[in-house]
Amino acid sequence: MDDRNDEPHPAATSTTPLISAGTRLPPAQQAYSDYSAHAIRCGDCRDPDRGCETAGDLWRTYRQTADAALDTIRCQTPGR
Ligand SMILES: [Zn+2]
Repeated sequence: MDDRNDEPHPAATSTTPLISAGTRLPPAQQAYSDYSAHAIRCGDCRDPDRGCETAGDLWRTYRQTADAALDTIRCQTPGR
């Protein structure tokens, strides 16, 4: 009797998103997610000879959001 399980592992075939719908990321992570999701799908972003204004805007939004989060952490750190 062959006890091997030839079924693929459920995680390998699952189409369940890593983050369920309705889950909100922290602002900096959401901004980076927006940037990376755009860059993966955008033809201009994949072409090193072309620029992408949308990616530039999304990157600046991420940097501003991340800097604001760091400023908040610094203000809450005792002894600073
Ligand atoms: Zn782009």
